[in-house]
Amino acid sequence: MRFLILFLFTFFCLGLSLGQKQPEATEVWQPEPRVVKTGKLNSPPSDAIVLFDGKNLDQWMSERDSSEAKWKIEDNYMTVVGGTGGIMTKQAFGDIQLHLEFRTPAKIESQGQGRGNSGVFLQSRYEVQVLDNYENKTYSNGQCASVYKQYIPLVNACKKPGEWQSYDIIFSAPRFNKDGIKVASAYLTVLHNGVLVQNHVEIKGTTEYIGQPKNVAHEKASIILQDHGNPVSYRNIWVREL
Ligand code: MG
Repeated sequence: MRFLILFLFTFFCLGLSLGQKQPEATEVWQPEPRVVKTGKLNSPPSDAIVLFDGKNLDQWMSERDSSEAKWKIEDNYMTVVGGTGGIMTKQAFGDIQLHLEFRTPAKIESQGQGRGNSGVFLQSRYEVQVLDNYENKTYSNGQCASVYKQYIPLVNACKKPGEWQSYDIIFSAPRFNKDGIKVASAYLTVLHNGVLVQNHVEIKGTTEYIGQPKNVAHEKASIILQDHGNPVSYRNIWVREL
C-alpha cells in the first residue's frame, strides 16, 4: 500500500512538473481586453469622448464664470479670442489619454513667451505649454511641450508657425488621502507631433508662473485651454478616461 501511494505521488509530481513546462501553463485567457474600434489616423477611437469636432463648443464653457465659451469657430477649428478668457471642459476628468491638435499663428507678432502662447491645463492645474518655439528662444522649462517650469521637453519638435501640430498626452492624476495629503504624484507623458517629449515625468504640483508648485487636494477637474492673448487655434480634441 505504502509503495502504491509513493508511486502515485511520484507520478503526480512528475506530471505537475511536466505540466509547468508546457507553454499553456503561462497563458492567460481571462479577462479579455474589450474591443475598441479605430478609424482614420488621429480620429477618436470608439470609446473616446469627443471634446471638439469642429462644429460647436457644447463641451466647453468660460473658465472665468462658466458662461458660454467665446472662442471663434471657423471651418473645423476654434481660435482663442484674446481677452475672453480660457475655456474649460464641462466634464471633470481624472486619469486620461488626451489628443488635440493646435496651430500657432502664421504671422509672427512677438517673441519669447509672447509668440503663440496658450496651454493645456490637465485638471485645471498642470500646464503642458503651447508656444511657438520654431526658431524662437525662451527659457527651456517654459518652451513648447514643457511641463511649465517643471520639465524641459526632451527635444524641440515644433513645426513652423501656421502649421498644425499634435499633442498626445497620458496623464495620471495625483491621489490625496482623506486628510488632504498627497499620497501619489501625478504623472505625465507627452508626444509632440508623434515625438516623445515628456516621458512619465512626476508632477511636483501646480505649474506656477511665480513661486513653487502647490499641492492642495482636489477631485477630478476640467481640462482648460489657455487664453494668453495670442490667436492660437485648436481642432480634433478627444479624450479617453483611463
Ligand atoms: Mg501658456
